[in-house]
Amino acid sequence: MYLLIFVTFGIYAIYWYISTKNEMNNEFKTDIPTGWLLIIPIANIYWIYKYAEGFSTKVIDDDNTVMWFLIFWLVGIVTPAVVQLELNKYADDPDLLRVKQRGDRRCPNCGRIIPFDSVICPYCGKRFESFL
Ligand SMILES: [Zn+2]
Repeated sequence: MYLLIFVTFGIYAIYWYISTKNEMNNEFKTDIPTGWLLIIPIANIYWIYKYAEGFSTKVIDDDNTVMWFLIFWLVGIVTPAVVQLELNKYADDPDLLRVKQRGDRRCPNCGRIIPFDSVICPYCGKRFESFL
């Protein structure tokens, strides 16, 4: 029975990694390689590195790839909680994902999401000298 739980958990973990990998590759333009690497010794460490890199540089933008790699690799039990929490923020707020995908920004005057190349806010008419 313990073996079954262990095996099932292993399969579920791989399934979870692959589905979140697909989500990150699709929505956040990460380049995490195929999940098949997860079942190959050594290659799975490289895969976790790429996963951590994508998560760090494209999802949460903290550029702490090495730190996340060590956490995901050594304390893998926390990975689902951490990653799911971040992905859910985007799932709950489509505007946030648009900002991320297109580089759209919030108007500092009215707070609406406006295209990244706007010179004038289409909602409140605020003109931007330089868009920072
Ligand atoms: Zn505005």
